[in-house]
Amino acid sequence: MGENTIFADDIKEVIIDEKAIEKRIEELGKEITASYDDDADIVMLCILRGAILFMADLAREIDLPVVFDFMDVSSYGASTESSGVVRIVKDMEENIEGRHLIIVEDIIDTGRTLKHVIDMLQTRDPKSIKVVTLLDKPDRRVQKKIDADFNGFEIPDEFVVGYGLDFAEKYRNLSFIGVLKEKLYK
Ligand code: 5GP
Repeated sequence: MGENTIFADDIKEVIIDEKAIEKRIEELGKEITASYDDDADIVMLCILRGAILFMADLAREIDLPVVFDFMDVSSYGASTESSGVVRIVKDMEENIEGRHLIIVEDIIDTGRTLKHVIDMLQTRDPKSIKVVTLLDKPDRRVQKKIDADFNGFEIPDEFVVGYGLDFAEKYRNLSFIGVLKEKLYK
């Protein structure tokens, strides 16, 4: 796959490179596959827009039939601090009653977004809800009970971009996860 260098001057440090992402996603796919019956009725819900590349790569490593769905949730805008206000911009389409739901997230930070999404989806009576996140910043958690069932990488409290994650809609198409230079957002 091609290396993208276009934003090289904006990145302080690459913390997870493309190979490491690929390897971890393979492992996550196996873990997820092993935790459901072969005939489980599974809906994979991609939380837009940050989880889109993760969802696309992870789904291909899951050896089970899955249905794709998407939900657009906004909590950040163009800032790097969570506002605590979570807005459903686009709801999912599938009826999840009696079905297994896998929520696919890019990163869990304070946990506010996920708490809101889980609380809302729980009322629709799915058979189970599991969360898979590519990244986790446990030190930042405000919602203490919110955790992923499957977690790609734990990272320190730094603002990261790439592989789906943005700052003001930029950097999503980087093939790695990098720390953004602070002067660009402070
Ligand atoms: P939470 O509600 O857990 O505080 O925030 C979750 C959302 O905030 C994520 O889905 C992501 O969109 C955004 N977010 C949190 N930390 C980062 C980060 O380091 N980089 C980027 N690009 N987005 C982040």
